[in-house]
Amino acid sequence: MESDAAPRMVAEIASYHAHVYFDPAATRDRAERLRGWIGERFRVRLGRWHEVRVGPHDQAMYQVSFAADLFATLVPWLMLNHGGLSILVHPNTSNPRRDHLVDPIWVGAPLPVHGDALPEDEEAEGPLEPNTDPDRPA
Ligand code: ZN
Repeated sequence: MESDAAPRMVAEIASYHAHVYFDPAATRDRAERLRGWIGERFRVRLGRWHEVRVGPHDQAMYQVSFAADLFATLVPWLMLNHGGLSILVHPNTSNPRRDHLVDPIWVGAPLPVHGDALPEDEEAEGPLEPNTDPDRPA
């Protein structure tokens, strides 16, 4: 780490992901309930269910893609409502490997992340088109 480097700017963050992990044999119900609650309260993109490990992830999971301006409500809401599930929240910048391995925060217990194959230089992913229609307060 260079000591004379300028601090990174928040504008680097094009969007966020929250990865909600679950055990298909034990906690899928809880993950499903949480997914429903999120969709009722936040305009986000709920990704497909991955029932087996995929990519850098250590457990089955689904992804929640959300715009940067939702962070201040969605992430505290997840802190209060994760129900014991582990959730990885990471920024999306131009360095997916660093986003997942170095710069994330965890809600619930941290899990391993297997990011060796993730690229270090890529166009930052903006928020994906929302597929929820929230009508309840968070
Ligand atoms: Zn992600």
